[in-house]
Amino acid sequence: MKNFDAVVSQIQKLYNTSDFIPLHQPCFKGNEKKYLEACIDSTFVSSVGKYVDQFEAILADITNTERAVAVVNGTAGIQVALRLAGVEANDEVLTQALTFVATANAISYNGAHPVFLDVDLDTMGLSPQAVSNFLEDNAELKDGDCYNKVTGRKISACLPMHTFGFSVHLDALIKVCNKWRIKIVEDAAEALGSTYKNKPLGSFGDLGVFSFNGNKITTSGGGGAIVTKDERLAEKGKYLTTTAKQPHAYEYFHNELGYNYRMPNINAALACAQLEQLNGFIREKRGLAMRYEDFFKSMGIKFRTETQNTKANYWLMCIELANKKERNAFLDYTNSKGVMTRPIWQLMFRLPMFKDCLRDSQKNAIFLEERIVNIPSSVRT
Ligand SMILES: *Cc1c(COP(=O)(O)O)cnc(C)c1O
Repeated sequence: MKNFDAVVSQIQKLYNTSDFIPLHQPCFKGNEKKYLEACIDSTFVSSVGKYVDQFEAILADITNTERAVAVVNGTAGIQVALRLAGVEANDEVLTQALTFVATANAISYNGAHPVFLDVDLDTMGLSPQAVSNFLEDNAELKDGDCYNKVTGRKISACLPMHTFGFSVHLDALIKVCNKWRIKIVEDAAEALGSTYKNKPLGSFGDLGVFSFNGNKITTSGGGGAIVTKDERLAEKGKYLTTTAKQPHAYEYFHNELGYNYRMPNINAALACAQLEQLNGFIREKRGLAMRYEDFFKSMGIKFRTETQNTKANYWLMCIELANKKERNAFLDYTNSKGVMTRPIWQLMFRLPMFKDCLRDSQKNAIFLEERIVNIPSSVRT
């Protein structure tokens, strides 16, 4: 058994405390209070206001997209982004089983069926090869659309997730999806500020989605956003998430089934202050990641790092233990010492509501499920 006491000591040293160390806590050292107070003074704390507009403009800028649409949370953002990509009830959506439950839930909210395909060992995100293998074996193109020959269902979208801010192999994935005429929606909830070949994650798919939940790299308390380079899709996204109301000076007319998925202005105020600090947060986290990398190397434990041509935001940092037994021993020991650590998610097909979904072998996903553990990753102040 490795010396996990040395790990606890090192993490306590890095965070300069022997008190409880959480996995990830937000950092409010910028204009948060100033903007929140201004927002309250303006009385516009709810569904419209200048901070929502400002937040959307800043986020479009950061993500190198045409427009951002602020929404109530990341899950709602994925749900609507899938609908904008053309996903309809009874369609199939290709995604990974190694993800947070929101990814799969958002597919189901549209009445569509998740298909769980394997991840790559190096990125921990959806494997282009697994997607290609599944499509070569099961799919056919009819009138320019992709269908599953076995189920007869349309395969209308692919929803890769950039695990902990590490990019999936985008070029290869885009190539496969283009070949099969499948739209891509990036679940970039964890990946704000990460890049692939120097371009922001979230900007590669037809649409990308971010979360601003309290545990993410920047927070609005609760919130999310859809980004896209397609002005028409953004317009439709804003409309659908604001009850699909026909613009009019005073009449209420709603053209179709829309949602009240707005981000309140008071949450946007918090988010604006947070986005101003994003680059600083990433710089600090990358510094911590380097310290962790050196330390864990000396321990003979694998600290997970970004792949070639990518830059990770290191939202949640993680190590790879030798096997499930060592993983459990690590989790037990560190948590008993007040250093919070957590295993990666259980695979989606193990959950009751997704147990009958289509899936492939999941060889890599199962390997990672048994070994990956998140370690404290907050910005140090
Ligand atoms: C956080 C997260 C979401 C959902 O975001 P919420 O804002 O909590 O709804 C979706 N997908 C992944 C991978 C996430 O980590």
